[in-house]
Amino acid sequence: MPTPVTLIPGDGIGPSIADATVRVLEAAGADIEWDVQVAGQAGVAQHGDPIPEPTLASIRRTKLALKGPLETPVGKGFRSVNVALRKEFDLYANVRPAQSLVHSKRHYDDIDLVLVRENTEGLYVGIEHYVPSGGDPQAAAESVALITRSGSERILRYAFEYAVRHGRKKVTIVHKANILKFSQGLFLDVGRQIAKEYEGRVAMDERIIDAMAMNLVMDPNRFDVIVTTNMFGDILSDLISGLVGGLGLAPGANIGTNAAIFEAVHGTAPDIAGKDIANPGALILAACMMLEHMQQPDIAKRVRDAFVAQIQDGEVRTRDLGGTAGTTEFTDALVARI
Ligand code: NAD
Repeated sequence: MPTPVTLIPGDGIGPSIADATVRVLEAAGADIEWDVQVAGQAGVAQHGDPIPEPTLASIRRTKLALKGPLETPVGKGFRSVNVALRKEFDLYANVRPAQSLVHSKRHYDDIDLVLVRENTEGLYVGIEHYVPSGGDPQAAAESVALITRSGSERILRYAFEYAVRHGRKKVTIVHKANILKFSQGLFLDVGRQIAKEYEGRVAMDERIIDAMAMNLVMDPNRFDVIVTTNMFGDILSDLISGLVGGLGLAPGANIGTNAAIFEAVHGTAPDIAGKDIANPGALILAACMMLEHMQQPDIAKRVRDAFVAQIQDGEVRTRDLGGTAGTTEFTDALVARI
């Protein structure tokens, strides 16, 4: 029985890279039944809503989605797509691997890192207000950084379990517990407790966020899996994409209690949409993460190995990686390799 997966092609370059990804997965023998749904600008065009109910209903049913980039419409009354999806499916773990695939003098050649970012708590819970004083209604502003024991437990456990499942050796817990003794202190305490359960299987290491930023730039190879709270993860995830050459090859997964959604980290690339020149790589790598999540690791490996070989051969590359191939030409060559 094929596994049902919701496919949201998305806006801009989304439909062309989604089409490329589906072709590659089919060539590799992935056992998937796609349920194609719209969101973003396409959702507004068809249903007047960037995150239409039929799309949510499909993900509720399949519990799995592969999502192209979406244009969040500007204007009042529209829900932010990412916020809506995160809330609806409690997508608490944002997983962002960064691996060197392209050799270049401007980037590291030998990086293989995974960042696990807590996605529902911390400074991004949206508890904010102004504090009036001396006649100024906005004399000060407060934003609450909410950290819970249960929220910390599930993300830290996810990071250690991820390490075990993927044969990784070390988890680095990144925090600022020296200053934020309560919120960050709780996260670190929970991390230390969970690390004990994995002693002998996965090593644990702790870093303060500011030192971590420097260590990642100077000596990133000493890290393996990194786990941290929401805002630190938001910042570090772009930093590690930069270490390996930017967004064109950066996949991401949003794992929740009720569903898992896989996507490319980049946006809709309106400057190149409709020209058949986008690199489908990030979405193809996101699909590989999805195949692993679906317990189809052999298919994931087949796709990833062929993709990496094609990128490293250098003969057929898209323009963002210094080649001349269009999306279709790149995909045809990849399908032929599989
Ligand atoms: P972007 O990632 O779309 O583009 C940045 C630059 O990278 C552009 O020059 C673009 O041509 C290039 N680029 C991106 N992906 C590429 C690919 N696959 N192949 C080749 N080149 C690629 O970022 P932006 O311009 O800031 O955002 C455009 C739109 O995308 C906005 O509406 C934004 O809200 C949306 N967006 C959506 C998501 C998402 O759905 N996950 C993420 C980021 C941005």
